[in-house]
This record gives sequence, C-alpha cells and structure tokens, in this order.
Amino acid sequence: MEAIAMTIGAERRPGRTTFDSLDPYRGGPWAQVAEATARDVDDAVAAARAAFEGPWGALSGAERARLLRRLGQEIEAAADELALAETRDNGKLLREMGGQVRSLPAWYEYYAGFADKIEGRVVDTGRPDFFGYVSREPVGVVAAVLPWNSPLLLLTFKLAPALAAGCTVVAKPSEHAPVSILKFAELFERAGFPPGVFNTVSGASREVGEWLVRHPGVDRVSFTGSETTGAAVAAAAASHLAPATLELGGKSANIVFPDADLEAAANGLIAGIFAAAGQTCIAGSRALIHADVFDEVVDRVAERADSIVMGDPTGSATEMGPICFPGQLEKIQHYVDTARKEGAVIRVGGGDGGHGGLFFQPTLITGLPNDSVVCREEIFGPVLTAVPFGDEDEAVRLANDSRYGLAAGIWTADVRRVFRMTRALKVGTVWVNAYRTLNYAMPFGGVKNSGFGRENGTEGLGEYLEEKAVWIETTGRTRDPFVLG
Ligand code: NAD
Repeated sequence: MEAIAMTIGAERRPGRTTFDSLDPYRGGPWAQVAEATARDVDDAVAAARAAFEGPWGALSGAERARLLRRLGQEIEAAADELALAETRDNGKLLREMGGQVRSLPAWYEYYAGFADKIEGRVVDTGRPDFFGYVSREPVGVVAAVLPWNSPLLLLTFKLAPALAAGCTVVAKPSEHAPVSILKFAELFERAGFPPGVFNTVSGASREVGEWLVRHPGVDRVSFTGSETTGAAVAAAAASHLAPATLELGGKSANIVFPDADLEAAANGLIAGIFAAAGQTCIAGSRALIHADVFDEVVDRVAERADSIVMGDPTGSATEMGPICFPGQLEKIQHYVDTARKEGAVIRVGGGDGGHGGLFFQPTLITGLPNDSVVCREEIFGPVLTAVPFGDEDEAVRLANDSRYGLAAGIWTADVRRVFRMTRALKVGTVWVNAYRTLNYAMPFGGVKNSGFGRENGTEGLGEYLEEKAVWIETTGRTRDPFVLG
C-alpha cells in the first residue's frame, strides 16, 4: 500500500501513526495516510506563518502570478494520477474527477491574473489637510477544511484566490478522501514555491480539523462540509475571533414549468441528482414539477434513471459508481426507508439493486409532500423526490420552503418568468434551462443554512483580502487633542 505523507513547511511527515484510506469500489484499504498530532497542526500553522512573514510575503504580485501559473502546469502533468487518487478514495467516476482536475489550471490562471492587480484607492477624506488611501492586504494564514466529494476542486476554490491575495494555507482534507490533496502538496516544491506556502494535515480523527480551526495562529477559516460541522467550525473560529467562510449543504429545487423543453428538463433533473451519485452539495434533490406535466416528466426521469449503468467508476461506460463509505450508504438507506414508512411511492430504485458493496440505485420518490423528511433533509445520495405544483407562486413558495439556500434550477421558455423567478428564489445560484455548471469567474455560495461568504470570481478573492485605511497628515499643523478629527 502506498504511504501518503503530510507536507509541513519543507518537510514530508509520514505521521507517527497512520490510518487507512478505503476504496469504496474494490473494498478495503488502498493507501496508508499520515495521522496528524496536535503538534503537527502547530507546526503546519507555524510554517504557514513563517512563509507569510518571510519569502512568500516578500514576493511581488507578478512573482506570485508566475508561480500560480507554474502550479497550473504541474497540475496538468499530474492530472491523471490525482484524478485516479480521487476516484479510489471517493468512488466517483474517473471521468468526473478527471474533468474536475483538468479544469484546475484554469482556476490558477484566472487568479494569477488578479495577483498583480490588487489595487487600493485614494479616498476624498473631505479634509484638505489629509491624504487618505485604502490598501488591500492579505489576511494571513488560512485554514481550509474540506469534504470528500470533490477534494481538489473545492480546495482550489479557496487556494487559488488565497495565493493570489498573498495568503498562506494549511489544508485539512476529509478523512474519507485525503490522498489527492496530500499528493497535490508535492507539486508546490516542483513549481518553485517557497516552503510553507501550502501545508497539509490529515487524520481519521475529526479532532485534527478542530485543532486547526481553533488554532490562534489561523487568521481566517474557509470550510466546506455539512451544516452541523459548519456550525461547530464557525464556533471554533469565533473562539479566537477568526472570520469563517462556510460552504455547507443544500436541498436544491429543480423546477419544471409546462412550457419547458421537457426532454431537456428531464435530462437536467437526471444531471442534477444522479451525476456523482447525488454526492454533491448542489444536487437538485427536489424536483418541483407543474401538475399538467408531472406524470410525463416523472415517467421520462424514471425511464432514464432505470437505465443508469452502475459499476466500476474507472469504466468509461459507467454512469454511477458506489457511495463513498458505509456510513453514508446507511444514511441514504435510512432516508429511503423513512420515505417508505411515510407512504411514499418508490418509482425507481430504493436499495442496492443486487449490486452489493456500497452501491445504491438511482431512486425516484413521489407521493410525499414538500414538508416530509426526505424533502427537507440533505440526503447526499442518488435520491430524487418529485412534488407537483399548481402555479408559479406555489413553485416559489415550495422552493423557498427549505432551511437551505444553495442553488435552484428553472426550466421554462418564458423569459418574463425567468426574471420573476430568479429574483424570488432565495439561493446563491440559479440555473435557467441548465443544471450543475460551474466556472471560476462565477461567485459560488449559499444563503440561509447553506452558509455564508462566496468562492470564485472577484468575490472569492475578496475573502482573502483586508482593507487598510491610511490617513496622512499633509500640513504639520497641531490639533486640539481632546476633539475627534
Ligand atoms: P463533514 O462536515 O462531515 O466534514 C467536512 C470536513 O470537516 C472534514 O474534513 C472533517 O474531517 C472536518 N471536520 C469534522 N468535524 C470537525 C470539527 N469539529 N472541526 C473542524 N473540522 C471538522 O462533511 P462531509 O461529509 O465530508 O461532506 C459532505 C457535506 O459537505 C455535505 O453536507 C455537502 O452538502 C457539503 N458540501 C458543500 C459544498 C459547498 O460548496 N457548499 C461542496 C461540497 C460539499
């Protein structure tokens, strides 16, 4: 089994102890991963601080940009290996993970473009005796805590803007999919970065993440994961008053109107929930379908869902791999069993379909209202509920009747409806006649319990910069010391 070490400063640390990373398709361990101690976390934060205050902090924006671009080239060269590591760790399709990893250089390229254009502004202070300006400065050491479903893509949402801003980073990958991020850290040396700019700490114990976000040496926390952990992370960050960006879960509505191209809409419903076996935060897990076309759309989705090819995630014809780990599979089964008890109609799927292992079939549930458990809770698996609606107002009400607010899809040919709906939906992303597209330039994030802060775009860069106001007295005059101003 391959031994996978952490990167702390210039050092590769194999860990005093290790834990096994499991391959959900083949079953059993495939890599032996370093388990961090509290001391390792201290050292990683110290290495990040030393780089921030030392060689990294001394670089110009143009020099940082050059290194970001070189990192992109190293990623291209290592893409196959990194993508395979993700598939072996989380069981998602190799063509999905490969597509994600191969898209990463564009993120570093995009943010490299900002690195030498982080400019402040001169402010009219309203006072002829003062020159005032605002500069934008890196926040410092960033703790990035990641989930297992798309490790390198979600890391890059944080890392590319953080590096462009001039920050240094300590990343904590998920215990379920740590390998790609730990291997990725090795590219920094090859790309020519000074040591300590990017550090990794891993562990089977969830304490490792907690040590990191609680660490007083961390200036900003950026977390992607579940709602419950997000609340714990925000509290831990608040214990030393570090701001936290939280990218959390979702229960996104994918809404079909009768004037839509129904074939495209059915395909969009499939893409929204069965891609990645539903293990994606933006899963369109609630289909809201106009009553006039409900049966037709449900039939189309059921037919396609039933023909989804499950199997080896590295196979080119496979459409759905296994679920990442046994606990997640049990959670999915539990929700489907709950739906059955509540009187649901399981139109398709509902179990492993005879595949065994960690497989769960694409599952389509009808016959339950929007306030049933399966329509409210994030399942994070290939389970779609379909609920009918009568008119646009009801569609908006049902879509917004969720404690989450990550994303939504609308399928319609009516442009006026598009404007009304995109305004009314309380979410961070709306897709119109599409679902599940992403790009480095489009801000991504949620409202309500889906979190706060934005990643990607210029907004994502702003998360890693702080404004400093500078007042320069220009006359040499002495003022009344007891009066403000
Ligand atoms: P999780 O919350 O269980 O774990 C996420 C990370 O937090 C892991 O690295 C874990 O070790 C760490 N962690 C656990 N307890 C911690 C603590 N007390 N302090 C600090 N760190 C701690 O999430 P998961 O199961 O890995 O991922 C699935 C969840 O992530 C889903 O809810 C999904 O919707 C969400 N997600 C959100 C986005 C987004 O951008 N909004 C993207 C992908 C996944």
